[in-house]
Amino acid sequence: MIGDKECLNCGKDLVHIAGKRGKIFCNATCRSNYWQKQDRKNKAGKATAKPPLATHRSAEGKDIDARIKDLEAELATIPDVGLGKKRRGFIIEKIKQLK
Ligand SMILES: [Zn+2]
Repeated sequence: MIGDKECLNCGKDLVHIAGKRGKIFCNATCRSNYWQKQDRKNKAGKATAKPPLATHRSAEGKDIDARIKDLEAELATIPDVGLGKKRRGFIIEKIKQLK
Protein backbone atom coordinates (compact mmCIF):
# COMPACT_ATOMS: atom_id res chain seq x y z
CA MET A 1 0.00 0.00 0.00
CA ILE A 2 1.23 3.43 -0.92
CA GLY A 3 0.37 6.73 0.71
CA ASP A 4 0.18 5.96 4.41
CA LYS A 5 3.71 7.29 4.97
CA GLU A 6 5.60 10.19 3.42
CA CYS A 7 9.27 11.10 3.39
CA LEU A 8 9.87 13.65 6.14
CA ASN A 9 12.23 15.58 3.88
CA CYS A 10 10.61 15.69 0.43
CA GLY A 11 7.08 14.42 1.12
CA LYS A 12 7.33 11.58 -1.40
CA ASP A 13 5.17 8.54 -0.74
CA LEU A 14 7.11 5.78 0.94
CA VAL A 15 6.61 2.17 0.05
CA HIS A 16 6.44 0.05 3.14
CA ILE A 17 8.38 -3.15 2.80
CA ALA A 18 6.85 -6.04 4.69
CA GLY A 19 9.01 -7.29 7.53
CA LYS A 20 11.08 -4.08 7.62
CA ARG A 21 10.76 -1.28 10.10
CA GLY A 22 8.75 1.63 8.67
CA LYS A 23 10.97 4.11 6.88
CA ILE A 24 10.59 7.85 7.40
CA PHE A 25 12.82 8.96 4.50
CA CYS A 26 12.82 7.81 0.88
CA ASN A 27 16.62 7.61 0.72
CA ALA A 28 19.86 8.38 2.52
CA THR A 29 20.16 11.82 0.88
CA CYS A 30 16.76 12.90 2.21
CA ARG A 31 17.63 11.55 5.66
CA SER A 32 20.89 13.52 5.86
CA ASN A 33 19.30 16.65 4.35
CA TYR A 34 16.49 16.47 6.89
CA TRP A 35 18.82 16.15 9.87
CA GLN A 36 21.05 18.90 8.53
CA LYS A 37 18.01 21.20 8.35
CA GLN A 38 17.00 20.25 11.89
CA ASP A 39 20.53 20.88 13.10
CA ARG A 40 20.61 24.32 11.46
CA LYS A 41 17.23 25.20 13.01
CA ASN A 42 18.45 24.20 16.46
CA LYS A 43 21.66 26.20 16.09
CA ALA A 44 19.78 29.29 14.88
CA GLY A 45 17.41 29.02 17.84
CA LYS A 46 20.29 28.85 20.31
CA ALA A 47 22.35 31.62 18.68
CA THR A 48 19.63 34.26 18.84
CA ALA A 49 16.20 34.70 20.38
CA LYS A 50 14.93 36.42 17.24
CA PRO A 51 13.58 34.35 14.34
CA PRO A 52 16.05 34.08 11.42
CA LEU A 53 13.85 36.16 9.08
CA ALA A 54 13.72 39.17 11.40
CA THR A 55 17.47 38.97 11.96
CA HIS A 56 18.04 38.92 8.22
CA ARG A 57 15.76 41.92 7.66
CA SER A 58 17.33 44.07 10.38
CA ALA A 59 20.80 43.17 9.10
CA GLU A 60 19.77 44.36 5.66
CA GLY A 61 18.32 47.57 7.08
CA LYS A 62 21.53 48.22 8.96
CA ASP A 63 23.50 47.66 5.78
CA ILE A 64 21.54 50.32 3.84
CA ASP A 65 21.82 52.82 6.71
CA ALA A 66 25.57 52.22 6.82
CA ARG A 67 25.84 52.70 3.07
CA ILE A 68 23.89 55.97 3.24
CA LYS A 69 26.13 57.19 6.08
CA ASP A 70 29.22 56.27 4.05
CA LEU A 71 27.89 58.13 1.02
CA GLU A 72 26.97 61.18 3.11
CA ALA A 73 30.42 61.18 4.70
CA GLU A 74 31.99 61.02 1.23
CA LEU A 75 29.68 63.81 0.06
CA ALA A 76 30.95 66.06 2.86
CA THR A 77 34.56 65.67 1.63
CA ILE A 78 33.84 66.51 -2.02
CA PRO A 79 34.05 70.17 -3.09
CA ASP A 80 31.03 71.53 -4.95
CA VAL A 81 33.08 72.54 -8.00
CA GLY A 82 34.24 71.00 -11.28
CA LEU A 83 34.47 67.21 -11.20
CA GLY A 84 33.35 67.26 -7.56
CA LYS A 85 29.97 68.58 -8.70
CA LYS A 86 29.45 65.55 -10.96
CA ARG A 87 30.53 63.16 -8.22
CA ARG A 88 28.23 64.87 -5.71
CA GLY A 89 25.29 64.53 -8.10
CA PHE A 90 26.05 60.84 -8.50
CA ILE A 91 26.23 60.26 -4.74
CA ILE A 92 23.06 62.27 -4.04
CA GLU A 93 21.21 60.11 -6.60
CA LYS A 94 22.55 56.95 -4.94
CA ILE A 95 21.38 58.09 -1.51
CA LYS A 96 17.92 58.83 -2.94
CA GLN A 97 17.79 55.33 -4.40
CA LEU A 98 18.71 53.76 -1.06
CA LYS A 99 16.22 55.83 0.91
ZN1 LIG B 1 12.65 12.11 0.29
